Amino acid sequence: MAPPEIDFLRDQLIDRRRRLQTALQATPDNSSLTELLAEVDGALARMQQGRYGLCEICQEPIERDRLLSDPLLRYCLDHLSPSERQALERDLELAAQIQSQLLPPRESPLEGWEVAYNYQPMGLVSGDYCDLMADPQQPDRMFFVLGDVAGKGVASSMLMTHLHAIFRSLVRVHLPLEDMVAMANRIFCESALAGQYATLVCGRATRTGEIELHNAGHWPALVVRRGSVERIDSTNVPLGMFPAGQFVARRIQLHAGESLFLYTDGLVETRNPAGTEFGLPRLMEMLGTLAGAPAEDVLAGCLRTLAEFRQDARRPDDLTLLVLRRAE
Ligand SMILES: [Zn+2]
Repeated sequence: MAPPEIDFLRDQLIDRRRRLQTALQATPDNSSLTELLAEVDGALARMQQGRYGLCEICQEPIERDRLLSDPLLRYCLDHLSPSERQALERDLELAAQIQSQLLPPRESPLEGWEVAYNYQPMGLVSGDYCDLMADPQQPDRMFFVLGDVAGKGVASSMLMTHLHAIFRSLVRVHLPLEDMVAMANRIFCESALAGQYATLVCGRATRTGEIELHNAGHWPALVVRRGSVERIDSTNVPLGMFPAGQFVARRIQLHAGESLFLYTDGLVETRNPAGTEFGLPRLMEMLGTLAGAPAEDVLAGCLRTLAEFRQDARRPDDLTLLVLRRAE
């Protein structure tokens, strides 16, 4: 671990030690507090000896994100005891349940639009983020977002859950999109540790087909019209990197039958058995052949093409796709 992280964890441990001692003064015979105090002292001693953060069985570094969330860990994921492994699996299953309940309903929240999405985590949980909601006080528009929290596993899925809550509450505040993203970024910066960030595309769509959209460090959003597929590239860095970001929204108009297509790494970075990446040009070409099709058909066509391309190669990452189509 880097020295600032060790310093951060040392401060955390010293603070916890002080709190444990205070609690023990009130209940001196609480054996679980005594055990925790011994564990904290053990971790501080390992820092002193320069052995902190190394697995006690294989001597390899313990996964950084796990250690940041539990500084007392002594074993890497490969060397958990059976009871620790079971506890981790239970936590993961619970996290997966919570995450699946955060997904938006399958039907469009706004009249005049069809929506279809696919959300497929690699493991039990995912750092991918997809949400759609109408604001009860502004029933003529919907908010949509698709993003990807950097990293893998539980740490990124927890940040994804946090980002979900931030946007869910900000949607009700009725800010211009630019201000909403700037505020979400500031709140997210406060909770993310250095190195944790999220790329995303978010926006608002009106009943009459106008879309206001911001791309923060994510793959280009694609607008599928008859005869053309346009890309809307990122104009900013991801959320969670710098609290003082300025965010600029783009405005586009979708006509009947035209779609906005959003996706995560799992689509464009999929490789076939020869090692060739699916890639953006192939995606744009494929979407061109699906222009005008209903949202569900665009989604199904895309998943089918991807499966044919990948054959038996391994899936690289979480896969999330979102299609918003102006109804005819
Ligand atoms: Zn190990």
